[in-house]
Amino acid sequence: MLQKIRQNSGGKPHPLLLGAHFSIAGGLHRALYEAAAYGCNTLQIFTKNANTWRERVLSKKEIKKFQDAKQETGIRTIAAHTAYLINLAGGERKKLIRSCAALKHEMIRCNQLEIPYLVLHPGSHAGDGEETGIGRIADNLNTVFASTKDLGVRVLLETTAGQGSSIGYRFEHLAAIMEKVSNPSRIGVCLDTCHIFAAGYDISTGDGYRQTINEFDKTIGIDRLYVIHLNDSKREAGSRVDRHEHIGDGFIGLEGFRYIINDHRFRHIPKIIETPKTRYTKDGDAINLRRLRRLQYR
Ligand code: MN
Ligand code: MN
Ligand code: ZN
Repeated sequence: MLQKIRQNSGGKPHPLLLGAHFSIAGGLHRALYEAAAYGCNTLQIFTKNANTWRERVLSKKEIKKFQDAKQETGIRTIAAHTAYLINLAGGERKKLIRSCAALKHEMIRCNQLEIPYLVLHPGSHAGDGEETGIGRIADNLNTVFASTKDLGVRVLLETTAGQGSSIGYRFEHLAAIMEKVSNPSRIGVCLDTCHIFAAGYDISTGDGYRQTINEFDKTIGIDRLYVIHLNDSKREAGSRVDRHEHIGDGFIGLEGFRYIINDHRFRHIPKIIETPKTRYTKDGDAINLRRLRRLQYR
């Protein structure tokens, strides 16, 4: 009780909305309990095996267990990440139809689980050009949204490192897609620190960080940002290679994360790590979450 009074009167910093991507092995609800065990108040999950086209139909029992776990853990802010095979920017008709159907299933599962955010890689144009790819992504999103009008989940386009022919390594790409999406309430952005850094937005220095976030705000708008992925980068800025490193061990470094953790504009935005699960033989999540928590000014 005394502790509580002190906390309420002490002008303490807001609690950090921090989590990790957790496995759903053994059931979707297991990820929530794991998050709680790490002291997380947010998390990300896949709602199916992310490497196959095979869909997962949720049973009433699974959904109930998930809702019970939410109640028990008190975790409300949850993001899902789509399967990796989905590509809304491709030119092959058969694959596009498959991708749209898969995205719809992802949205249905999120709706059933009352997950508000669904992170999506914008897609790869496979040589057809960025403008064409951007047009296809927007068209396909509009098609999927038209057939899922009653679903409350918001699809978040993730910034990318710019590997291969992937779209989304410039803020302008995501802005252009969103501009073409008819209903802005269905769409938003997920910013991945490793990806933007690899794409050339150097957030490792104070000047670079300020410049990057200003550019993000001018191009996309901070009000369009709903989830942040916190990952350090194994490769240098502008490498366009997507390799996640433990927080502070990579080229972004602790200073870069200190800026983002303490940026009051991102106070209410869930910050989720997707760093390797082990560091040497130790628990990677425990280490990375601790490192991030220690960066918060008090
Ligand atoms: Mn991703
Ligand atoms: Mn990510
Ligand atoms: Zn990545």
